[in-house]
This record gives sequence, C-alpha cells and structure tokens, in this order.
Amino acid sequence: MNEPLAPGSTIGILGGGQLGRMLSVAAARLGFKCHIFEPGAEPPAGQVADRVTTASYDDIAALKGFAASVDVITYEFENIPTGALDVLEALRPVYPNRDALQISQDRLSEKEFLQGLGLKTAPFAVVDNLADLEQAVAIINTPAILKTRRLGYDGKGQARINNSGDIETAITAMAGAPALLEGFVDFSHEVSVIGARSQDGQVACFDPGENIHVDGILHTTRVPARLSGAQRTNAVLIAARILNALDYVGVIGVELFVTGGGLIVNEFAPRVHNSGHWTQNGCAIDQFEQHIRAVAGWPLGDGSRHCDVEMENLIGDSVRQIGEIAKEGRAAIHLYGKSQARPGRKMGHVNRIIEPGS
Ligand code: AMP
Repeated sequence: MNEPLAPGSTIGILGGGQLGRMLSVAAARLGFKCHIFEPGAEPPAGQVADRVTTASYDDIAALKGFAASVDVITYEFENIPTGALDVLEALRPVYPNRDALQISQDRLSEKEFLQGLGLKTAPFAVVDNLADLEQAVAIINTPAILKTRRLGYDGKGQARINNSGDIETAITAMAGAPALLEGFVDFSHEVSVIGARSQDGQVACFDPGENIHVDGILHTTRVPARLSGAQRTNAVLIAARILNALDYVGVIGVELFVTGGGLIVNEFAPRVHNSGHWTQNGCAIDQFEQHIRAVAGWPLGDGSRHCDVEMENLIGDSVRQIGEIAKEGRAAIHLYGKSQARPGRKMGHVNRIIEPGS
C-alpha cells in the first residue's frame, strides 16, 4: 500500500466527461488538484479541473507528460486502450487496476469472470457470424439480445431477437463486430450496487438503487430499491465479491436483474456510475469522494443513506426544464456544463429528496 496522498497532490483523470467533472469537484473538496487527459475539445471536466491535456490515447509523449505531472491516475470510462495503460502504468499507479479494466472491456471475459466467481449471469454464446448466431439461437432460444462484445453503452450495439425472423437483421446490426448472444432475463426490475474498495481492502457499498431505463438510457434511480432484506444483502455481497476478486481500488457500479430465482449480474463498470449520482444528496460521503479517497490511499468514508432520493437524468432537450426544476425546494441540481443539448446526451441530473411516506 502506498502512503496516503497529501492534500495539494495531483490526481490524473483519463476522460473529461461529467464523471470526470464530478470526480474533480470531489477531489478539490479534499484539497487535491486534478489533471484531465481527454482527446475531445472543451471537456466538461476541464471547467472545474486544475489542468487539461488535449491529446489522443496513442500520443505517447502526451501520455508521458501527463503521467509525470500527477501522483496517481484514475479514469472515468472503461474503454481506455491498453496501449495507453502500458505507458501510464510504467510511470504512476493506475487505479482501478488493469484486470478490472480489461475484464469489463469485453462482455465475454466479463461473463466468464462472473461465472468463475459462482455468480449468475444470463445464458450466453459467442457470435462471430451468421452461422454462429443461428446455432446460438437454437441453443439459447428467443427472446434473446445480440450485443457487441466491446464498446457498447446505453443500449448501443444491441439488437433484440424475438424470433428467427430477426436473426439476419441482428447480425447485420453488429457490422462484423464480435458479439455475444444473451438469453433474455425475465426480471421484475433492475437495481445496481455502487461499491468501493480501499487500498488496504476495506469495502463499503452504498444502498442498492432501483433503475428505470428509457430507450436504453438510464432515466431514473430511486433509493431505497424494492428489495427484501436478504436480496439487499445479496446485492452487496455480490459487489464485494467482485471487488475482492479483482483486488480493486476505487468505486465500481454493478448492475443486477431482480428475478424470482435470485439476482443476476448484467454487467459491471470499473468507475463511478450514473446510477450512483443519488449519493451526492443521500449520503454524507458520495460515490465521487469515495472514489477519490480510495485512489488517494485514504480510508473510505461512511456512505450510509440518510434519506430517500430519486435521481432523474436530464437528457437532451429535457434540460430546458431547468427553470421549473429550480423552483422546487428539494431538488438538487447538477448540470454538466455542456453547451449543446443533442438527443440522448446526458446534460445533467437532479436529485429529489423524497419525504418518507410520499
Ligand atoms: P446493457 O448495455 O447490457 O446494460 O443493457 C442495457 C439494458 O438492456 C439493460 O439495463 C436491460 O434493461 C436490458 N437488457 C440487457 N441485457 C438483457 C438481458 N439479457 N435480458 C433482459 N434485458 C436485458
């Protein structure tokens, strides 16, 4: 374990979106500076961080300069090219570690890892071409979902197969990318656990949240989730199991399907997670501070939930409602500083404190 980072130290963050922005704000509260590495122009995190490097992930000189200027490196998205990691890891500690990143970058390695831990996942089969898909559908049956193994998010890179007539359209939608067929899970609702693990192996999980997706994008997270006491404990144990197995440092988001036969793991994200934004107004220590504490080698904080919260994402044009939302007394507004409200783009979110019984 490294010495705890002293306030005044610099944390490097790969990725400059809203997650990097909110990590930077949390880091600043603890007295740290943040340096953002982001290929795109005008990253939302750049408005609040100490420094920004604008360069691509294959710019070795830029990566080396970035690493030399920081004390520790973390990231806000999981699709960092492993070549960039090779350069960075040689110079500074990177948290969460490479295993977490590599396993979660490919749906196949992710599912194999989860099953290796004895956790339940949807049934799956590897699909590289039409013949594979026909065979996979014969075994797994319909309904099923074909997903690209890499780079899918917010329901992108997915095609639903309701009957054999959908097979050709689904394989065409993959555009030749390696894919996985997943059996359709008959779930009652979806929940996620945001967990954290410190450098000395301490684990703390936030109360599971219940998630509602619209058009494949997270729309609402509500806490407490509808779970029995045993289910709630199971959800937390699943997250802790994954964290320990990966010797993980930082915050993780674990998405679960709730079924009559128990909890089924959909996927995990090795980073702070949209479904954990409610913690900003529901806990003394939120997911962003918890992540910064972990990567800085500090003890984790107490993430107990002190009120009921509903988080609503402001997607695309819905951010125009901000004037009305601002009139609500108990709505905590979090905007990401993005100038263009394109359809499907996450512009901000609002955390509403819910009175017990309402
Ligand atoms: P993903 O990109 O894997 O998180 O999938 C996006 C959303 O699609 C999930 O949150 C679920 O609502 C739905 N979904 C994904 N996989 C399955 C599955 N195997 N069975 C049922 N619904 C699924």
